[in-house]
Amino acid sequence: MRVLVVEDEPDLLRVVATTLREDGYAVDTAADGEDGLFKAKAWEYDAIVLDVNLPKLDGWSVLQRVRTVKRTPVLMLTARDTVADRVRGLNNGADDYLVKPFALTELLARLRALIRRSVGQAVAVIEIGDVCIDTVAKTVTRNEDPVALTPTEYALVELLAMHRQKLVSRTTIYDHLFDEEDDSLSNLVDVHVSNIRKKLGRDFISTRRGQGYIIQG
Ligand code: CA
Repeated sequence: MRVLVVEDEPDLLRVVATTLREDGYAVDTAADGEDGLFKAKAWEYDAIVLDVNLPKLDGWSVLQRVRTVKRTPVLMLTARDTVADRVRGLNNGADDYLVKPFALTELLARLRALIRRSVGQAVAVIEIGDVCIDTVAKTVTRNEDPVALTPTEYALVELLAMHRQKLVSRTTIYDHLFDEEDDSLSNLVDVHVSNIRKKLGRDFISTRRGQGYIIQG
């Protein structure tokens, strides 16, 4: 899953980005509203964490302009909790908001829920045949035995499982698994898929040659 964080306070931006990366997200960052808007339009993020008070273009304007072209889930970071702010956020198409200062664990929990809702996955645990994916603990079991996946393997399994029965193109996989700082080689996805099949079964992921991958489940 790939997330954009738009925040102009350097310390907060750093700690949020680090926390999200440690939780397995690919993370892009922007320190002002213009850069945030540019990136939000340029890439297919799974979610955007958007500060309200930003230089160049405030968070509300960024949200409004993103909403004219995209439905990416947006979690707003507001400085104070007032009814006016909440109403404004909802009217502008924000999906959720957090009041500063917030606990990083709450940010993680809300982001997970937002992303799940946006793909129509209501529950945190996804079961596909004998494979069980816990999107909160980020663990996978097969026949109730724990399966050790690398962070990238897990991210790929989660992405395909969240979009099960839908073809996921290689481009989509790159967009959602790797951030701007990543310069991974294009054949890596094949290697990851092959390793996942060794761990979760040959038929767990199907290849559509030249198109992408799909979990039929
Ligand atoms: Ca700010």
